[in-house]
Amino acid sequence: MRKYIFVTGGVISGIGKGITTASLGRLLINRGFKVMVVKIDPYLNVDAGVMNPFQHGEVFVTHDGAETDLDVGNYERFLGIDLNRHSNFTTGSVYSEVIAKERRGDYLGETVQLIPHITDEIKRRIYQIGKDTHADIVITEIGGTIGDFEMPPFVEALRQMAVEVGRENTMFLHVSLIYTLPNGESKSKPTQHSIRKLQELGVQPDLLLCRTSKPLDKSVRTKIALLCGISEDYIFEGLDTKCIDEIPLNFEKQGMGTLVSKKLGLPKRASQDTEWVSMVDRLKNPKHAARIAIVGKYTTGSDAYISVQEAIKHGGIANEAAIEIRWVDAETLVGSNSLSTDFENVEGILVPGGFGYRGIEGMIVAAQYARENRIPYLGLCLGMQCLVIEFARNIATLEKANSTEVDAETPHPVIDLMLEQRAIADLGATMRLGLYPCVLKEDTKSYAAYQQPIIVERHRHRYEFNNRYRSEFKTAGLCFSGVSPDESLVEIAEVTGHPWMVGSQFHPEFQSKPLAPHPLFRDFIAAVLRYQQKNTCGSTLS
Ligand code: GLN
Repeated sequence: MRKYIFVTGGVISGIGKGITTASLGRLLINRGFKVMVVKIDPYLNVDAGVMNPFQHGEVFVTHDGAETDLDVGNYERFLGIDLNRHSNFTTGSVYSEVIAKERRGDYLGETVQLIPHITDEIKRRIYQIGKDTHADIVITEIGGTIGDFEMPPFVEALRQMAVEVGRENTMFLHVSLIYTLPNGESKSKPTQHSIRKLQELGVQPDLLLCRTSKPLDKSVRTKIALLCGISEDYIFEGLDTKCIDEIPLNFEKQGMGTLVSKKLGLPKRASQDTEWVSMVDRLKNPKHAARIAIVGKYTTGSDAYISVQEAIKHGGIANEAAIEIRWVDAETLVGSNSLSTDFENVEGILVPGGFGYRGIEGMIVAAQYARENRIPYLGLCLGMQCLVIEFARNIATLEKANSTEVDAETPHPVIDLMLEQRAIADLGATMRLGLYPCVLKEDTKSYAAYQQPIIVERHRHRYEFNNRYRSEFKTAGLCFSGVSPDESLVEIAEVTGHPWMVGSQFHPEFQSKPLAPHPLFRDFIAAVLRYQQKNTCGSTLS
């Protein structure tokens, strides 16, 4: 019998449901169970593809080319598995499907309603993913906060599922906030209210995870247990931590894996996550420290580049180095006459992906600074395109070279719209998306990183290197170390003679995992450490 875990959140948004879901998934995978995860987003957008990353965080791309919520990235990293387009759906996509069926006449004249048609479609999707993947356990997380207007149809669908598959095969986990007053007193009332809201919708949570900035008092547990009907040993502490990778270990220490297995009637299995334990140990006890700059459009505190940050961290783990990120707002670099101050103590420069013209000139400045000062540089998608534009302008002497995304009238369109993109008008799900193969050239930085002739990487772009310039640039010193198998698309460009200046048209960050750091990030950080050794006597990080 397949088991279902449903995760909801209370009190505030951004409470950590995604990491909680991913961590619980890890505890179960670790016991040898096959776990699948689904994230439901109650907004009306059909997917995350056209959402503003500043507001909503990064768009995570799955191998099959779905543009999903960033939590899918957290699931992949914690569970060490690849998910697919069925692992994330929104209110918008559910309604689109139901309305399309209604238009086709599939409902045979019935009145189409929120209940049962919308709730049935929600249930169908969750059941389907379990069936398709033969999962032992499907964990479903509902985004947003209990009490939100969009929430009830989803909670109702999950409530019905619990009736259909049996309460003994389902578990509701609620993630909530225990607020600490400035005088140190813990307040559980907001949590009580959010549980009551859930109860009003017909759901009694089985397990509660209390997010808290200080260890959970016994009295808080007792009170919640009494007032909310959750047994005390089903109340877990989710203490604030800087190291999210430690969270599965904290949960395991509290016995969550064993208890959840017992609650769901799963066979008792031992869990020893030695690989994860030693990864966390390496992460917390680095031998080196280095600082790199991320030059982008969205800076400090934003989730817009979450997979990039994680992949940098993984590159650090592979090199036993703690990597501090300096956020540099690309726009501030344009016309700066103090680049050496802007990049002071920076030992590597990374330009991430992006869309539109804003900030591009600053990213090109960053690429030039990295090239001229022989600082390791990693360009991701737009970051690769900036590497190319900078090379065109300053080495190939093509003044005003640009991407046609930025300047449609440029005399040297070194980055141009891909052929298949020319007739496309819609923005949603129309880019070159998902996995594509790439052939690597031997004796290049890329080959040295991957150590294999053919790789597959995830893409999300509309523009590409303009092949008209290929042979000219090759002669000028740009190496096309990765190309599509038919050689029609440039996938990786490297600056010849530079210690490590690599740009990829794809997004390697999406495939990096804590236990399998991505080769490009690993080698980028290794180059950063070599640069540091050569240029300083060790870094002094704050
Ligand atoms: N805007 C560029 C393109 O569409 C780069 C995309 C990206 O960085 N993901 O090609």
